[in-house]
Amino acid sequence: MAFLGDYHTHTVFSHGKGSIEDSAFKAARTGLREIAVTDHGFNHMTFGVRRREIPFMRAQINECAVKYPSVKVYLGVEANILNSKGKIDVRESDKPNLDIIVCGYHKLVHGSQFSYFWSNNLGLGSAKTIARNTDAYVNAVMNNKIDILSHPGNCCKCDIREVARACKHFKTYFELNGKRIYLTDSELETAASEGCEFICDSDAHRAGRVGDFSVALARIERVKIPFGQIANFDRLPVFVNVKRGGAADE
Ligand SMILES: [Zn+2]
Ligand SMILES: [Zn+2]
Repeated sequence: MAFLGDYHTHTVFSHGKGSIEDSAFKAARTGLREIAVTDHGFNHMTFGVRRREIPFMRAQINECAVKYPSVKVYLGVEANILNSKGKIDVRESDKPNLDIIVCGYHKLVHGSQFSYFWSNNLGLGSAKTIARNTDAYVNAVMNNKIDILSHPGNCCKCDIREVARACKHFKTYFELNGKRIYLTDSELETAASEGCEFICDSDAHRAGRVGDFSVALARIERVKIPFGQIANFDRLPVFVNVKRGGAADE
């Protein structure tokens, strides 16, 4: 009984502290079978990964495949949701270069819709803001092939039932984030009752935290989410963008 993969990790290519190899080394030591390197999306104002660095990241991942053959390392990105229409900062031309797309709401992102950006950043939780955020999540999942919705509800209050329904329908995993879960137990119960599948990730910003699922595990046990609904527990997830073997489905 174990978690087999960690699909949301950061490295020095955004603002993490470790290299891709550091993460692969830790994953191998921890006995993980898969990890995804998902640095922050291209439009992030302060630490977005640069498109020109993607080939270097891929080369390092290829080297890790030789050094740590027990661990499959995917190249992904943690994309940013830009507006309530669900636009994200991954272009069609980026997709062939990425294995996995994790996506979530973040502050300080170029191209973010003005009203959407400020209502969240000022902490407004009005019905209008919640409706706009819910639209942003649902439309992002509907209009893009997103493998994992990262930390739903983080600085982005939304209708969790609607977001969970969209995740279930479009086969996007609803993340239980390893740094912090911003949802209440009752919101998580609601998401589980909609039948969506969850995935637990460390969101590690240093290699030492790769494979740390303790925060998610505590909530799973407290809320009594069935382990059968956890996509990376005792099984490997089936992502919309990844064919086993690593080639992106684009
Ligand atoms: Zn994030
Ligand atoms: Zn992250």
